[in-house]
Amino acid sequence: MKKDIKSMLPQEIEEDLSRLGEPPFRAKQIFRWLGRGAVSFQEMTDLSKSLREKLEQQYYISSLKPLKKQVSKIDGTIKYLWELEDGNAVETVVMKYKHGNTVCISSQVGCRMGCAFCASTIGGLVRNLKPSEMLDQVLYSESESGLKISNIVLMGIGEPLDNYDNVMRFLELVNHPEGRNIGMRHISLSTCGLTEVFDKLGELNLQLTLSVSLHAPDDETRSRLMSVNRGRGVDRLLDACDEYYRRTGRRVSFEYAMIDGVNDTEYHARLLADKIKKTGGHVNLIPLNHVEEREFAPSSEENMRAFIKILRKKGVNVTVRRRLGSDVDASCGQLRRKAAKD
Ligand code: SAH
Repeated sequence: MKKDIKSMLPQEIEEDLSRLGEPPFRAKQIFRWLGRGAVSFQEMTDLSKSLREKLEQQYYISSLKPLKKQVSKIDGTIKYLWELEDGNAVETVVMKYKHGNTVCISSQVGCRMGCAFCASTIGGLVRNLKPSEMLDQVLYSESESGLKISNIVLMGIGEPLDNYDNVMRFLELVNHPEGRNIGMRHISLSTCGLTEVFDKLGELNLQLTLSVSLHAPDDETRSRLMSVNRGRGVDRLLDACDEYYRRTGRRVSFEYAMIDGVNDTEYHARLLADKIKKTGGHVNLIPLNHVEEREFAPSSEENMRAFIKILRKKGVNVTVRRRLGSDVDASCGQLRRKAAKD
């Protein structure tokens, strides 16, 4: 079995190489090549031919096969469907913002969190993505689109904290100064709220943005929408967010998908404002994206306006997320596993 070298840190490559009698700086050279998107050891021309051959025998360089590319006519958002080495497929979205191009990557094939409004969870979890497969989504999106990526959001298919170790490793790889070198402050991780790992994450004191998919301020509504809330609860989640802020100095930001008649009433707005004000966090409202298989509908503009007014009046910092790529089904919650070859 060959080893997945793109999931390895330079120090791990170095340890392996020392057993082959190679000097430490070779590891850094290889790591740099991988971070620049090298697809074969043969490209690594500053290594001797014999080392390249040895590497080829013991390691493989992960790759993605583009199956489909859709470009939004409205805003230029690009959606890729990639085939992984085992035939599974995942989606990645590239969005153009004024502050730089952002890639939205998937962390799992499928998802087992079961949110009632989301398409990614239909069909459940197939498997976790490897660190290299997350890194490849960044590298391949860049090389396929010709766009320089400056921001990453872990908001595609899957729950990043349900694939904790691989996601943490991916962050280390993509953030590494000798690798792709994307700053933590340019990375957002979105979670449905697996509070049991918040402390562990907080201890790492990463300077990324932790974004929590809240979607309701009360347990009755939230548990109806998100089964992950059952047995955890909104208040415990918000306490965990406070503790996270205390540890890292980074405020959590909250996602709230506005769903007609479900979580968009005056009652929800007032309760949300009261609970959020304590955390000092920022709320990002998204009109729900309609998902064919789901019964929910987006809130009316009128309800959205009334909701925002209540939040602002109570001093909550609110923004409304622009919908990008809606004509290519690239909006939040619409990504899902498709038959790799349809
Ligand atoms: N599992 C993570 C990240 C993936 S989803 C999480 O739950 O945060 C990225 C965001 O899209 C989440 O806030 C999610 O709740 C939201 N989302 C899912 N389905 C949606 C839909 N149909 N409309 C709008 N947002 C949706």
